[in-house]
Amino acid sequence: MINKIKAELIRNKLDGVVITSKTNRRYFSGFTGSDGIVLITENEAYLFVDGRYTTQAEQQATGFKVIKFTASPYDLIAEFKIKNLGFEGDSILFSTYNKLKQAMPDADFRDFSFVLENMRMVKNDGERLKIKQAAKIADDAFAHIIKKIKVGASERDIAIELEFFMRKSGAEGVSFDLIVASGIRSALPHGGPSDKKIEYGDMVLMDFGCIFDGYCSDMTRTVAVGEISKEKEKIYNVVLIAQKAALACIKAGVECQNADKTARDIICSFDYGEYFSHSLGHGVGLEIHEEPRLSTRSEQILQKNMMVTVEPGVYIPNLCGVRIEDLVCITDDGYENFTKSEKELIII
Ligand code: ZN
Ligand code: ZN
Repeated sequence: MINKIKAELIRNKLDGVVITSKTNRRYFSGFTGSDGIVLITENEAYLFVDGRYTTQAEQQATGFKVIKFTASPYDLIAEFKIKNLGFEGDSILFSTYNKLKQAMPDADFRDFSFVLENMRMVKNDGERLKIKQAAKIADDAFAHIIKKIKVGASERDIAIELEFFMRKSGAEGVSFDLIVASGIRSALPHGGPSDKKIEYGDMVLMDFGCIFDGYCSDMTRTVAVGEISKEKEKIYNVVLIAQKAALACIKAGVECQNADKTARDIICSFDYGEYFSHSLGHGVGLEIHEEPRLSTRSEQILQKNMMVTVEPGVYIPNLCGVRIEDLVCITDDGYENFTKSEKELIII
């Protein structure tokens, strides 16, 4: 990782980069603590931590010089007299930025966020194994939860049960606030669970995932409870056709916007285009949403071992919403689907 970043420093004509976000700090140094600053220069890599973290930092951050600070880490960083300094414009605290600027008045600060984010897109073997395990726990949770969904159960009960099951199965936590939305509430693409009880004829949309050893999973399934109307069934089938078509077109070398377009064209051909109100998918890793973006304008190119979601949806106000989301690993000739759960319509 250090050598990868050094190459980017040279390519971007920077003398060093300061990393302050938890995700990038962990990714590039291996240090999982919640506080600390990474500085990587052309020659060396440093991790500045306070007394709470020195032992942990020395154990985890292989290849880094761990420097314990007691007062200001910014003055220590200033001593390196770096001229062109990269920083994380997307996430640095305004107060941290100001302190750095104050300590290094002559340095030229350049936003390096995009380069750092892009470096996390392609996953190595270890990362893929962790994501696969997080996806498996979510799959198991889905198999468990469909036995619990019934008329009268509340959305909140279902969300709690999903989370409880995943944590019992070894997850560190959920990868985002779980979404469980039923009936007309399923038309809210990001409807958090409410006290609403499941009714006969409802569609129940569940978007969930967990964290395993720092890495996230993400999946959505929408199920029917009892007999549903012809229109709801049609919407489900349109989303399913679109999801399968998008999957069929993705492989290394495909432009992300083309994957989005494949699904969107199908949904538009059934006149539901205006109800597909988000992009097709996103990268997943240490963060639940990361690069690349599978959106209408994304010119990013899919590469082998990127982890992305494929999640078209149709949300019709006052009727229902359907989303089907798989988490897949890009390969040279297609993808490996880490989400194994059934996606033909399940009627409970
Ligand atoms: Zn999701
Ligand atoms: Zn997602």
